[in-house]
Amino acid sequence: MSVLSEMLVNLLRKPFTILYPTEKVPIPDSFRGRVAITDEKCIGCSKCSLVCPPQAITMVANLREVEFKGKVLVRKKKPQVKVFRCIRCGLCQRHCPTGAIIVVPELSRTGTDREVVVT
Ligand code: SF4
Ligand code: SF4
Repeated sequence: MSVLSEMLVNLLRKPFTILYPTEKVPIPDSFRGRVAITDEKCIGCSKCSLVCPPQAITMVANLREVEFKGKVLVRKKKPQVKVFRCIRCGLCQRHCPTGAIIVVPELSRTGTDREVVVT
């Protein structure tokens, strides 16, 4: 196909790009995206923070009561994730004993502040 005919064919095609974020990007179910934490399930054990390869998870002070295996526990810490440091490896999810931290198939929020955290 000559360059000219290829140009003409492409002029009649729909664009391959989409107007993100106005248009949503299709995301497969197995996509490892944003890390999400459910505070009510977290027992503050720090396992997620210990296994995180890029040290994106910091345990921060947070006094609260959590129900775990029929008992009410008083917890003093909870994890915070630095979004821009996370490599979406999923190890935190794999090692969390309560399912409190999961990697959801959603795109991370954007921003220019390196210290932005999700909780
Ligand atoms: S997905 Fe991996 S890099 Fe991201 S917070 Fe969890 S353990 Fe850390
Ligand atoms: S999110 Fe899970 S692994 Fe991390 S501190 Fe809470 S309970 Fe422990």
